[in-house]
Amino acid sequence: MENTKQLKTWLDDLGLDHPLVIAGPCSAETEAQVLAIAHELKDSDVSYFRAGIWKPRTRPGNFEGVGALGLKWLQKVKEETGMKTATEVANAAHVKLALEHDIDLLWIGARSTVSPFIVQEIADALEGTDKIVLVKNPVNPDLALWLGGVERLYAANIKNLGVIHRGFSTYEKTKYRNIPEWQIAIELQNKFPDLPLICDPSHITGNRDLIFDVSQTALDLNFNGLMVETHTTPDEAWSDAAQQVTPDKLKQIMEDLRIRKVTD
Ligand code: PEP
Ligand code: MN
Repeated sequence: MENTKQLKTWLDDLGLDHPLVIAGPCSAETEAQVLAIAHELKDSDVSYFRAGIWKPRTRPGNFEGVGALGLKWLQKVKEETGMKTATEVANAAHVKLALEHDIDLLWIGARSTVSPFIVQEIADALEGTDKIVLVKNPVNPDLALWLGGVERLYAANIKNLGVIHRGFSTYEKTKYRNIPEWQIAIELQNKFPDLPLICDPSHITGNRDLIFDVSQTALDLNFNGLMVETHTTPDEAWSDAAQQVTPDKLKQIMEDLRIRKVTD
């Protein structure tokens, strides 16, 4: 798709001297939890504060998010900390509400990217927007589905696009929650070289002890940024507890990644 070529992206416009960092809890749980995490992240490399408010859970009976109420908490984060905000949207109603509440970055989750009808519905609802829209890879290792999601958004005239690599589901038992299959992300990048490519080490690993190594691999592969789930009391998180890191730990990881880069 030649008309998708961009010479300068929203990421260049941020003018960062380090990889883009999107961080915050897997789920917004309470206003106090969201604000406490945000305040601990405000003096760091984090540009976008993430929190899931509509949570697509693989099986029923788990916490499915606080819903639209959380949008007000994200607005407060922006007012109080200056960080921009990010959340997952999974249908046209979510998009409408997120835009009404001036969320800066919207992402399409791995369970939505698998469904062309859902991606199309989201693309139509976002038509022509200036907001940043990131497409996570589908849960299964299918490059065409991922590309299809990106193409649907481009076709809806959404210019500030990017992709997030969050690993792929497998029935095999490995040390990862979702195997990275880095070559799939690289292949996508080869097809869309100007599309910012972000790694989500949290959902790849499912394990906070592996976040640094996977982040390092991503940066070594020239990924443009990281999305890292961060929580002040990770073990008590209402979703994805094992993979979340504290704000201090995130800052340490960013520092160690920087040191590795400088001394390489
Ligand atoms: C998330 O980012 O919290 C999430 C649900 O991710 P994924 O769609 O990658 O599973
Ligand atoms: Mn999560």
